Amino acid sequence: PEATPLLETRGLSAGYGQSLVLRDVDLAVGPGQVAVVLGANGAGKTTLMRSLAGLLPFSGDLLVDGQKVGAVRPDRMVGRGISLVPQGRGTMSALSVHDNLRAGAVSRRDKAGVEEDVDRWFTTFPRLAERRDQAAGTLSGGEQQMLAIARALMSRPRLLLCDEISLGLAPRIVQELFETIAQINVEMGTALLLVEQNAALAMKVASYVYLLEVGEVVQHGDAREFEQSDSIRRVYLGY
Ligand code: ATP
Repeated sequence: PEATPLLETRGLSAGYGQSLVLRDVDLAVGPGQVAVVLGANGAGKTTLMRSLAGLLPFSGDLLVDGQKVGAVRPDRMVGRGISLVPQGRGTMSALSVHDNLRAGAVSRRDKAGVEEDVDRWFTTFPRLAERRDQAAGTLSGGEQQMLAIARALMSRPRLLLCDEISLGLAPRIVQELFETIAQINVEMGTALLLVEQNAALAMKVASYVYLLEVGEVVQHGDAREFEQSDSIRRVYLGY
């Protein structure tokens, strides 16, 4: 039998006021899995991530470890091991790098463990270590994205939701970020759900793919099989 997915949606719909953006989305991410949602600008990727993170109301079912999650409560999602790296990074620009990392651990009571994790992510992201006392707002775009990822990891998530971490960054930096999160997945078993416009890049790390078009999942399947299909490559992946 299949293992219970870490995160699953069944018929999830969401939107803003009268306008429905996501329609009947079914997806599942297993423990340690790397899944990617690909979709054009405006397909509803950010809306999906915000719903999954408990930041936006939805209809349909959202399940964690097979149990339904009801109310919109981001702290509860974090408590269940699901942490979001928001689009636009969302770091607190007036706070230092170090304090931003600590803020990512507000749900934890093990102070010693928190500082150990700060050190761990400073080792993973040496550029953040060099700037630990600098205000986050003074960092470059790439450094802020590193900080957003490290901050989300400070809650020790089992699943990291990454909303377009490649956006607006130089290709070399993006490459580095993807290598780092792939390494975190392998070494720590942290599952990843990535939403990306950059299909070629996301396909390199993904094992499972969902194609989102105007709010609906139009195809999903094994990443390697998708890459072998010329028509899917041409139409959806664009390479
Ligand atoms: P992008 O790559 O631009 O972030 P996306 O696939 O993430 O695109 P969403 O940001 O989820 O798409 O937006 C999907 C649709 O919802 C768009 O038509 C957008 O205009 C609309 N939308 C997004 N945020 C809001 C909001 N706060 N209020 C009203 N409509 C919104």
